Amino acid sequence: MSLHLRLLLGFLIGLATGLVVHVGAGADSGWLQVLTTYVTQPVGQIFLRLLFMLVIPLIFSALVLGVAEMGDIRSLGRIGGRTLVYTVVVSTIAVVIGLVLVNLFRPGDGIDPQVAQSLISDAAERAGTIVASSQQAGGIGMIVQIVPDNVIRAAAANDIIAVMFFALIFGIGLVATDTPGTARVKEFFQGVFDISMTLIHGVIRLAPYAVACLVFNLAAQFGWDLLVKLAGYVGVALLAMAIHFFVVYSIAVRWFGGMSPLAFFRGSQEAIVMAFTSSSSNATLPTALKVAEEELKLPPRVSRFVLTIGATANQNGTALFEGVTVLFLAQFFGVELSLLQQLTVMFVCILGGIGTAGIPSGSLPVIAMICGMVGVPPEGIGLILGVDRLLDMSRTVLNVTGDLAAAVVVSRGSGEAPSDTA
Ligand code: ASP
Repeated sequence: MSLHLRLLLGFLIGLATGLVVHVGAGADSGWLQVLTTYVTQPVGQIFLRLLFMLVIPLIFSALVLGVAEMGDIRSLGRIGGRTLVYTVVVSTIAVVIGLVLVNLFRPGDGIDPQVAQSLISDAAERAGTIVASSQQAGGIGMIVQIVPDNVIRAAAANDIIAVMFFALIFGIGLVATDTPGTARVKEFFQGVFDISMTLIHGVIRLAPYAVACLVFNLAAQFGWDLLVKLAGYVGVALLAMAIHFFVVYSIAVRWFGGMSPLAFFRGSQEAIVMAFTSSSSNATLPTALKVAEEELKLPPRVSRFVLTIGATANQNGTALFEGVTVLFLAQFFGVELSLLQQLTVMFVCILGGIGTAGIPSGSLPVIAMICGMVGVPPEGIGLILGVDRLLDMSRTVLNVTGDLAAAVVVSRGSGEAPSDTA
């Protein structure tokens, strides 16, 4: 049975039993307390902690390699620079579209504030220090704190932004230094990344059981409300993705790439179908490379470079989805996020898009981490995972199409001849 099917099954089992308990037993019954305290809560917690445990090695190695893949600074600086600027700009647009729509429709609103409050107080205790300290520091202090004075302390304090910043700088240093030693360092980080991926795959295999437990807890507490809100969330996420896909990509390829959007989407078809069915940018990479050269006729050197990096580093759909999800969960649990906090979420989502692995449900650890940062209970992930299939397929389509759009834009003016493969 496929992972997504098992996740759905876990979700349905958790939901059905949770709702039965909600209607029949009431939240105070003794056996329910025992069940949640000794079974469903610990199982859910262990799963979340396994995800948290892998965040730092995964994101750090992904970011270092993402920058290091830019190759040697002189020959690739131009293509690398353009790719980076494109990634940051278009990811920002994606996240902003998502955040505006969630604020507009507020799909998570309306939960009983008392129930929500009891959940938040736990999460607030676990929340990372970054948001609290950046609020104390005010606007400029927040920027200063992006630069860690001690990277080990930043990692220990779960100050992920500072860790990400260090990873980026480290990656740049790695590209700029060409010695036998640095080649080994790069290999080392490739190894760390590969190991993290194996472990994430392992943890994700446990997800169906954790989802059943997490959703059971939430359904027993919130009842039917849950389903209505989830439907709203899926609707808003899909709408935001559709806008980004049809509007932003069309503008990017037309204005900045000089290609007709119709020709672009038609040429990309094969990669789009592959992304939709596999839910994995990495798995779609070979198809994307083929499409870029044979259908879109892009210069191979540029498209190979942009697409290979993009499969991990340029994930517009994922960045958008992460923003929508964290804000939805914040609304659901009644956590008010100030503008500054929303900006922090946006910033982390942009970097999160770069640091997310291009595998099915690769966003999971990143969402768990961002939730923790802003004081939203990461348990909400159980809810999201149950309905993640369609969203994962859709955001992967955005990720892959976004890489192809980037390749079109970066190819223009790169001075390279287009592919001559017919
Ligand atoms: N499945 C996505 C991809 O491979 C990553 C994610 O979970 O957002 O592009």
